[in-house]
Amino acid sequence: MSNHFLGLSGVNYTPLGQSFGLGPMGSPAPPKPTKPAKKATVCVPGYWGRDLRCRIGQEATQQKIAALLNDELLSTGVRVYLWLPVHEYVKALAPVNQTGGDTPTPGSLKCSCVKESGQHADKRCNSCHGTDFIPGYLKFGYQTIWMASISPGWTVSNLELNTVLKPYRYQLISTAVVGSLESPDLFFTKSVSKGLWDFRNDYVLRDATNSSVTVFFSTDQGLTWYDISNLSTKNPPYGAIRFRVNLSRTSTAVSSPAWEMLRVRYPTIAEDGRNGPWITILKNVMTKTDSQADYGLMEEGVLRWWTAPLSLFDCNIAAQTSIDDPINIFSLIKEPAFVEFIESVRIGQRWSVTRLNYSDSLDFLTRQFFDSRLQQSLEATSLVW
Ligand SMILES: [Zn+2]
Repeated sequence: MSNHFLGLSGVNYTPLGQSFGLGPMGSPAPPKPTKPAKKATVCVPGYWGRDLRCRIGQEATQQKIAALLNDELLSTGVRVYLWLPVHEYVKALAPVNQTGGDTPTPGSLKCSCVKESGQHADKRCNSCHGTDFIPGYLKFGYQTIWMASISPGWTVSNLELNTVLKPYRYQLISTAVVGSLESPDLFFTKSVSKGLWDFRNDYVLRDATNSSVTVFFSTDQGLTWYDISNLSTKNPPYGAIRFRVNLSRTSTAVSSPAWEMLRVRYPTIAEDGRNGPWITILKNVMTKTDSQADYGLMEEGVLRWWTAPLSLFDCNIAAQTSIDDPINIFSLIKEPAFVEFIESVRIGQRWSVTRLNYSDSLDFLTRQFFDSRLQQSLEATSLVW
C-alpha cells in the first residue's frame, strides 16, 4: 500500500466492508487488499481525519475568527484616515478612463523628479512625495483623479515644460503674459451622494504680487467653466470633468508662475455612523516592554495596532470568503503608509506605519498588525493631501 492511499492523516478510511488500519509505521500492518482500492475522493460527512485544513475550511473557522475580530474592531476601534503609497500596481486601479482613442489612461506615472544619477525621488516633491510615482499617496476610501504636468493629454497654449528643474513644471513662454493648459475629459461616477469633492492645486509663485495661477473645471465639455473652489458646491455626481489651468503675469519681465499638479477627490464610502471613508484600528495587547513604555521609558515612541483586511471597510474591495480564495492584495496595507487620527487624544496627528505583518494562517487573512511612530512636523508625508 502506498502512502497515496493513506491521505494526509496517516489514517485511512475505506468504504464499507473493509477495515480501518494504521499506516505503514503502525502495527499491525493493514491487510493487503485483494484488488487496488479506489482512491477516496469524498470524505464521510463529519469525519475529516486529521486533515485540519479540510476541516477548518469546512467549518469556516477562519471566517468565524475574522467575524469576531471585526465586531471588536468596529465597535471599539479608533477611527483613522489611511493613506496608501502608489505603486505601479495602481495602474490596475486607474481612477478614470478617457475615451476618444489614443490618449492613455492616467494611471500612476514615474515622477519627473527621479534623477538619472541616483534614481531617487525627491522627498520634498509634491508630485510623488518621495515615492517615485505620481500621485505619491492615495487616501483610502476616496477616488482621486489627478493631472500632473507630465500627464498625457494636455492641450497647451503659450506654456512650456521646464525640464531643468525637477519635478517638471509648466511655465509661460518668454514672450507671453498669459497661457493655459486644458485637460481631456476625465470620466467619473460618484456613488456617494453626500460626500463632497475636494481639490489640491500645487504650483510655485516667484512673484505673488504680479503673477497668478487659477484653475477651472467644466462638466459640459468646456462650454461652462467654474473656478475650482466651487467644486464641492457643484458636487457633480457623474459624467466627465475637465480642467483648465491659467498662468498669468503682469509683464514678461516678471518671473513666470510654475504649475505642477492638480488633484481632486471624492469619497467612495458613505459616512454612516462610525463607518465612513476611514478604517478603525485597535491597540495590540500590551507586552511587558510596552507597559514600561507606557510609564514613560519610551514615551509613546512606538504604538502597536491591529486592523482588519481593508475589504472590511471598503466593499469595493473583494473580500476573501474561504481559505481557497487567494488573499486580495488590495486588502493589504503596504508601506510606506500612514494614518491620521480622527478621534482620541491623538486627533489630527499623523503616524507612520512601520513593521507591518499579517495574520494569515491557512492563507486566510484575518488581521494586519503594525507599529506606528509619530511623524515629525517637517516630514515629507506631512505635506500629503
Ligand atoms: Zn517626485
